[in-house]
Amino acid sequence: MAGMTTVQAKTFESLNPATDEVVGVHPVNSAEEVRAAVESARAAAAWWGALGFAGRLERLNRWKAALTRRAHELADVVHAETGKPHGDAMLEIVLAIDHTAWAAKNARKVLGPKRRPAGLLMANQKATVEYQPLGVVGVIGPWNYPVFTPMGSIAYALAAGNAVVFKPSEYTPGVGRWLAESFADAVPEHPVFRVVTGFGETGAALCRSGVAKIAFTGSPGTGRKIMAACAETLTPVLIEAGGKDALLVDADADLDAAAEAAVWGAMSNAGQTCTGVERVYVHERVYDDFVAKVTAQARPLKVGFDADAQVGPITMPGQIDIIRRHIADALSRGARALTGGPVPEGSRYVEPTVLVDVPEDSAAVREETFGPTMTVTRVRDMDQAVDLANATAYGLGGTVFARARGLELARRLRAGMVSVNSVISFAGVPSLPFGGVGESGFGRIHGPEGLREFARAKAITTQRFRAPITMTTFARTPKVDAQVAKLITFLHGRR
Ligand code: NAD
Repeated sequence: MAGMTTVQAKTFESLNPATDEVVGVHPVNSAEEVRAAVESARAAAAWWGALGFAGRLERLNRWKAALTRRAHELADVVHAETGKPHGDAMLEIVLAIDHTAWAAKNARKVLGPKRRPAGLLMANQKATVEYQPLGVVGVIGPWNYPVFTPMGSIAYALAAGNAVVFKPSEYTPGVGRWLAESFADAVPEHPVFRVVTGFGETGAALCRSGVAKIAFTGSPGTGRKIMAACAETLTPVLIEAGGKDALLVDADADLDAAAEAAVWGAMSNAGQTCTGVERVYVHERVYDDFVAKVTAQARPLKVGFDADAQVGPITMPGQIDIIRRHIADALSRGARALTGGPVPEGSRYVEPTVLVDVPEDSAAVREETFGPTMTVTRVRDMDQAVDLANATAYGLGGTVFARARGLELARRLRAGMVSVNSVISFAGVPSLPFGGVGESGFGRIHGPEGLREFARAKAITTQRFRAPITMTTFARTPKVDAQVAKLITFLHGRR
């Protein structure tokens, strides 16, 4: 939680969402301060870029090792600012470390110079492509995975040779600052990775600061504002926005595994996961069994802030109202809550809530709930499951539990990533791209695609010898034109 101390305050507090204790006080960086941070990062970017892949790999490995050694310390900051259980915080940190290692190790292979075939018409040319850094990349992050999510951009942008200026969420500024300070400890030479803190205005200032690209993760509404601000300066953007992910259960699925995945996918991190399971579509032949298993697993989950809690508080106070509205609306329209139910006014927690008989046009099915809830809906066959799963403006991730048709159903889901017979595994595979469709955004972090998002392709031809038929000259004769016409007919003119 966060709040301005006074209207003109130059600082703000980050608060523990379970206790309201002040976790830290941070500056509200102004547009001038953001611009100054970007300028100093620009000088650092020149040094960082010139280090080359080997120099960056060595330094990123140093940072990676420091993150690993100090992971519990970072998890404490995440726990304090988001309320999520320490174990959940460790999980996102572990994944972020693995991604950082992959990006650093693979940057040269993905981005380094490569020969391309020059083709017959240009056979005298040596053709190469290489991916050069953009310069300074601005990263604007959310609070729900304050390490894993922004690191999907930060680590890949750094590995690609860019400097980074990061604007963490106003709910998790301490995590952002911790990350930048740990980087500066590992790489003290130049301020390659800087942090600016504040609210939306600080983020908007970053969009207008002259950065070479903005990587944004957050809600689709903010994504629109970011694109509008970036449009003023033709600054390219990558948008990782929300989701309404579905989990499909086919008649031949392993129901115990499917139920376990659905409950964890929907309830872990108190449901505040962009690729969290929000809707479940189950083949009618196994629906009753599946619902019984899900209910039995969701009911005993421990909600709270103490050491053995499995589901923490809702981090952002305003989100509780949305979750409450979705549950209340569903119940008023004939749905039943098999666990959990209406959210009491004033509560910071939401009991894991399994909803059945929810109308498909209700908010709980159509809008991102971002809480520990799931709707479970019976379908007559998997074609209907695919149709219902795809009937959303979002398209981030998805899950399929099936024996025979897993891959087929995964391909048919309109989403950027799908896991078959496990949940959200795609996020933990560093070599796979991560990103959405439609309202869930565009562009990809992670994997080779994620490295290339933060680099520009540079094409170079080097002439090896003067070609017998030279086309790029005014000294070209009609004979040469005739030879070219003959050649192109030979190459492409046949049916
Ligand atoms: P949000 O959109 O409220 O805020 C995200 C960031 O944008 C914050 O740092 C905020 O300060 C900044 N911001 C707000 N207004 C701005 C403006 N006008 N200009 C520039 N920056 C501005 O999102 P949130 O509540 O922090 O995060 C939750 C959302 O993020 C959910 O919708 C969730 O699904 C999504 N999310 C997506 C992914 C993904 O990878 N696709 C990952 C995690 C979260």
